[in-house]
Amino acid sequence: MIERAKQGVKLRIVQKFGGSSVADAESIKRVARRVVNTKQEGHEVVVVISAMGDTTDELTDLALQVSKDPRPRELDMLLTAGERMSAALLAMAINDLGFDARSFTGSQAGVITTEAHGDARIIDITPGRITSALEDEDIVIVAGFQGVSQTTKDVTTLGRGASDTTAVALAAALKAHHCEIYTDVDGVFTADPRIVPGARHIPEIGYEEMLEMAASGAKVLHLRCVEYARRERVPVHVRSSFSDKPGTWVMDQKEDHMEKPLISAVAHDRSEAKITIVGVPDTVGSAAAIFDTIAEADINIDMIVQNVSTDRPGVTDISFTCPQANVAQAVEALEEAKEKIGFTKVVSNEEIGKVSVIGVGMRTHPGVTAKFFGALAAAGINIEMISTSEIRISVGVAAKDVDRAVRAAHTAFGLDSDEEATVYAGTGR
Ligand code: ADP
Ligand code: ASP
Ligand code: MG
Repeated sequence: MIERAKQGVKLRIVQKFGGSSVADAESIKRVARRVVNTKQEGHEVVVVISAMGDTTDELTDLALQVSKDPRPRELDMLLTAGERMSAALLAMAINDLGFDARSFTGSQAGVITTEAHGDARIIDITPGRITSALEDEDIVIVAGFQGVSQTTKDVTTLGRGASDTTAVALAAALKAHHCEIYTDVDGVFTADPRIVPGARHIPEIGYEEMLEMAASGAKVLHLRCVEYARRERVPVHVRSSFSDKPGTWVMDQKEDHMEKPLISAVAHDRSEAKITIVGVPDTVGSAAAIFDTIAEADINIDMIVQNVSTDRPGVTDISFTCPQANVAQAVEALEEAKEKIGFTKVVSNEEIGKVSVIGVGMRTHPGVTAKFFGALAAAGINIEMISTSEIRISVGVAAKDVDRAVRAAHTAFGLDSDEEATVYAGTGR
C-alpha cells in the first residue's frame, strides 16, 4: 500500500469530492478544511469537484419540465453549471480559511473531449493554466464531469458519475503522485453497503477486478476512470470524506492470487433494459442482421440469449440487454428493419437487473457458476440471462429480485462480515 506523504515530502495530489460530500454550505466548508489540511502538510493540491447533492438529477428534471426533448448541446450547457457552482463555492470557502484557491471550468482546465454531448470522451488534457496556478502556490479547483469539444468548441459532459474520470485524467496529465476519490462510504466494499450492510471493506484491489466491478454497475468508481487509471498506472485511493479511516487503494497488484478469496465482490446494475425480438427466422444471418441494426444505431449491448421455440418450428426469440436510455432508439431501429429481418414483433422490459460475481480467483477454480446459480436457486430467483468474462459471471434477473440475489451470492461466497459498513450520506439516487 502507498503510504500517504511523510512530513516534508512535497507531493502533487488530486482530490475529488463527490456530490454527497458537498451537499450543502456546511459540507462545502468541511471539504475546504480537508483540502487546506493537505495543503498545510506541504503538498500541491488539485481538487476536482462534483455538483452539490442531487443537483445534476434536479437540473435534468428541470430541463424535462421545460422541454420534452432538450437538445443535447443545451442540456450540457445546463448540467455543467452544477459543477461550476460547487467549484466557485469551494474556492470561496478555502479563501475564507486564508488560502489562495482558484476555480476553473473543465474547458479552462484544458479538458479536451470528443463532441458526443452527454457522453464525451477525453481526448487530451492541456493543463497549462493549472500548472501555472500551482506554481503560484494556489489550490486549484476544477469543475468535474465536463470539457470542451475539440471540433465544435462546445461545452460537453462526460457521462453520469464522470467527475471521477476528470480526477484520474488530471492526475495522469499532471503526473500526480496519486488520486484520492472522496465519497460517502469508507472505500470499495465486497458489495454495495446500501444493499448488504455486512459488506466487507477491501483495503486493496487491482485495476482488473475494479474494472469489472465498475463495468458491472458498482458506481463507487466511474468505469472510464478505472480504465484511465489502469492505462496510466495512477494509484487511486477511494475513501470517505466523512471519516479519517483508510480507504481502498486501487493499484497494480502482484500476481499472487493464491491468497485471494475466490470471489472478490458482488456487483449489481439496474440501469439496463431487456429487448426481445419475437419470431426471428431460424436461418443463417438473422442474428447478424439484428445486431448490425443495433450497432448502426451506436448502441452497446450486454447480455444476449436466444431461445428456439419448440412449438413454432423454424423461428426463434432473441433477447439482449442495453442501457435503458437507448431503448426507444433500439426499438425504433429494429421496427424499421422488421420486414428485412422478418421477425414478428419487438418488446422491451425495463424491470430487469444484473447481478455479477467478480474475482480473479475464478480463473483457476472451477465450480463458481454452480455455486452462484445454486445460491440463486435456493433463494427462489429465476435466471433470465447469463453472460461471462474470464473473471466475471453475470445474470439477468427480475428487478424485484436484485437485492435478494446480491445478498444470496454475497453469503454463498463467504463475503459477509460481522461489522456493519457505514453509509455516511447520499440518497443513493
Ligand atoms: P459520489 O457522489 O461521491 O460520486 P457515488 O454515489 O457515485 O458517490 O458512489 C458511492 C456509492 O457507490 C456508495 O454510496 C454506494 O452506495 C455505491 N456502491 C456501489 N457498489 C459499491 C461497492 N462495491 N463499494 C462501495 N460503494 C458501492
Ligand atoms: N454531477 C455529475 C453526476 O451526478 C458527475 C459526478 O458527480 O461525477 O453524474
Ligand atoms: Mg460517483
